[in-house]
Order: sequence, then C-alpha cells, then structure tokens
Amino acid sequence: MKSESQHRKDIVEVCRRIHGRGWISSTDGNVSVRLRDDRILITPTGIHKGFMSERDLIVADLSGKVIAGRAKPSTEIVLHATCYRQRPDVQAVVHAHPTMCVAFSLAGITLAKCLLPEVVFTLGSIPTADYAPPATEEVAESIRKYINEYDAIILERHGSLTVGPDVFAAYNTLERMEHVAEITYHARQLGAVTPLSPAQIERLRQVGDRQGWPRRKIAEEACNNCNACGKLEGCGAGSAAPMGGSAQGRSSAPSTGGSPAMDVAAVIAEEVAGALGRAKR
Ligand SMILES: [Zn+2]
Repeated sequence: MKSESQHRKDIVEVCRRIHGRGWISSTDGNVSVRLRDDRILITPTGIHKGFMSERDLIVADLSGKVIAGRAKPSTEIVLHATCYRQRPDVQAVVHAHPTMCVAFSLAGITLAKCLLPEVVFTLGSIPTADYAPPATEEVAESIRKYINEYDAIILERHGSLTVGPDVFAAYNTLERMEHVAEITYHARQLGAVTPLSPAQIERLRQVGDRQGWPRRKIAEEACNNCNACGKLEGCGAGSAAPMGGSAQGRSSAPSTGGSPAMDVAAVIAEEVAGALGRAKR
C-alpha cells in the first residue's frame, strides 16, 4: 500500500502529464486519490496543474470538509465524491478537458459506438453525460447513471471523467479515450466510419473471456447519428450523418453504392452470412 507521500508524488506527476498533453489549460482539471474509505487527497482549486507541488494538495473528506491543506479543494470535489461513494473499487479520479473528446461532444457526436477492438476490451462504450454547469452538484448528478458501469465518461461541453484502481490507471484510461477520439476524428476526415458490428463485438468479448478480461459495458442505446436505424430525423445520407464526417468526406468514402445506412447493413449482412456459413460447417 502506498504512503500519502507517494500518492502526492503520483498526483503531481499525473497532473504534469495531463498538462503536457494539452488536455488541460491553466487551472483546469482536477485529480484525486482515495486515502481511505471517506478520505481523499485532491488538487486544490485555482492552481495551475502543470506547476503544482506536492505540498499544494488537500486532504478532505467526501463531504468536502478540509482535513489538511492551505487552500480550498477543487470545486469539482462533489463529482469526485460521487465516484468514490458509488464505486468502492475506485481509488482514483481524473477530470480533464481533453481536446478531441470535448470537440466531439460540442458537435453532438457520441463516441459510445464501438469502433476499435482495444476499446471493446478495455473500456466498452464511452458514454456522454448530459451537459451540466461545471462546479455544481448537477455535474455529479449527470454521471450518476453511468459511473457504476463505465470507467470513462465524456462530460458534454466540458471534459472527461476517468476512474481506476490507482491514479495512473485513471490517467491511462483518459489517454485511451482521447486517443480513440483522435483516431475517430481523423477517420471521419477520410470517409465513412463503420462501427464494429454486434457479431464482431461478441467475438471480441469471447476473446476477452479467454484472456480472463472482465466484460465491459456496451451501451445498447449507443448511437452515432449514422441513421443506420433509419429513425433519426434529419440524419439521413446527404444531411448530418456525422459518422461519415464532412459532406466531402462522405462523397470520397469507399462505398457499397448506397447511403451510410446501406454500408452498415451490408456489413451486418456479411457478418450474418459468415456466421451461418460457420454454423453449417
Ligand atoms: Zn472541468
């Protein structure tokens, strides 16, 4: 078990890495570690995380009461406390403002659909919590329905929330979610982006089972506004269809000769045909 002194060093290191990657600016973001059940070590409010020292950190309880430290704890301490209260397994919480994740939320495009195998293995879906004004109880409220099942959540128009068994694990999860957002962004510039099919996701989960990896939650309601379901108003081919990227991106995309909905349907049909073929053998 790490000492409080080591936890202080770890938080400072993680804050420097987050600032170094450009995922917070100035006094943005906050990081905490659970010292014991109801006591946490957390970054103070109004400090630049890239230049913070170990002595700047605050010890507080989950109600926000300061136990030790010379400043006020982060204004997002309620968000952190919600994670610790709802998830006894969580030992660290990282809140940042990663560029791509926030940009996707501003554009109204979810990252909840599964695109990359390693994300299915490690995170499952990445849900986006409804917008809430920063530094309010409403932010904590917005993540309540997700935090029990997800380690990585995008806060609409605001930032990211990642949790883990230690502060480096929570940082790694932030790095992974921003990376998938960046890959998705670039892919969308190149053309249509097709999510993994249900059959491909199930296959990945079977691979994970064999490795002994816990199954991560896949959002059933996940939607990338690709209109694959044909139910979204104003989201057909030639209109929004965000998974295809810009209009230019869509027109230059490899195509099965139809709309994005047709592309997805073709992939699903291919999967089903493949599964039936295997069943026959
Ligand atoms: Zn924030």
